[in-house]
Amino acid sequence: MDERDYYKILGVKEGAAAGEIKAAYRNLAKKYHPDRNPNDKLSEEKFKQVSEAYNTLIDPAKRKQYDNIRTAAEHSFSTGDFDFSNIFKGGKRSHTYEEYSSFGDFGDIFSSFFDLGSDFRRERYGPQNGEDLVYELEVPVETIASGGSISFSFRRESVCRVCGGSGADPHSRLMACPSCRGRGTVSRQLGEFSTVRPCPDCLGRGTVIEKHCSNCMGKGATYGSKNYTVKIPKGINEGAKLRLKNEGARGLQGAPNGDLILIIKTKIHPQFERRGNDIYSRLEIDSIQAMMGAKVYAATLNGKVSVSVPPGIQDGTLLRLKGRGLKMHKGKSGDHYLRINVKIPKRLTPEQKRILKEFSKTRKI
Ligand SMILES: [Zn+2]
Ligand SMILES: [Zn+2]
Repeated sequence: MDERDYYKILGVKEGAAAGEIKAAYRNLAKKYHPDRNPNDKLSEEKFKQVSEAYNTLIDPAKRKQYDNIRTAAEHSFSTGDFDFSNIFKGGKRSHTYEEYSSFGDFGDIFSSFFDLGSDFRRERYGPQNGEDLVYELEVPVETIASGGSISFSFRRESVCRVCGGSGADPHSRLMACPSCRGRGTVSRQLGEFSTVRPCPDCLGRGTVIEKHCSNCMGKGATYGSKNYTVKIPKGINEGAKLRLKNEGARGLQGAPNGDLILIIKTKIHPQFERRGNDIYSRLEIDSIQAMMGAKVYAATLNGKVSVSVPPGIQDGTLLRLKGRGLKMHKGKSGDHYLRINVKIPKRLTPEQKRILKEFSKTRKI
């Protein structure tokens, strides 16, 4: 089992509906529950994984973010060591195995999972840490070679400057919520369960805003681009992560923001191709140079270098320029590989044809 793929952990398809996810989770949680598998470390681990996967996929916001990361991870780098659980580290809402290990029977566990009683209110509507956001940052290979800084802009929500995040007009008052008459909760019949839920109109607060802030239309946040400049260390790895503290999604009700995680991606270059710390480029020579050898100049990330092409070189041969690739901050340098591309003349003058005919007579067959 790929222990980092939440869909595989639950055995559901990528587009699975919430109902399918719940059903899959219910089965697996029963199967691996510690009460059924006492002192079984493997089951305990499975139970934790299953819970982690469920808590992410059942929350639409987390799921969307997870899907984005998962797609990015599939397409942009192959390090394979990306730890998805860290992405949600900022949020304290995840139910963990420890939280539930104290429940004796399944009924309690599942009612707290699926009917979301008082837990729900506290976790959903209380202060809530912002989630980490992920941004794939394309960096020119020259910047990676020399180290430097790069600027980019990223659209994100930030706390409204006018109301400070409350969503209320600074001159208005709070009043008791008319829907729940200030209680913050409403009763609801859900199948065989009767549940008390947070009031959807006041989000469980019991109060509503008399007049909304006109700057953010009551949302408490505004959405806009923010410019960033980050330092790129020399030779940074493809897929490496840089974390910008507090620049992720905004925390709710005074809780801290998440972080913005940058995933480094080397920008496609017309000439230089990056493979790890090595650089590949093409070196064109003509057929006479290929046959007789030549001294030519080749462009590298460290400027032009003189290259001795040995006589009789074949098209497609790789010539290695040792240590001319990407230099790491510490440790060794990569190499630069030149792929020989022999150009054959398309047209010959009568004089050249004559000489080549003479030449061909000298060939050993
Ligand atoms: Zn506002
Ligand atoms: Zn209410």
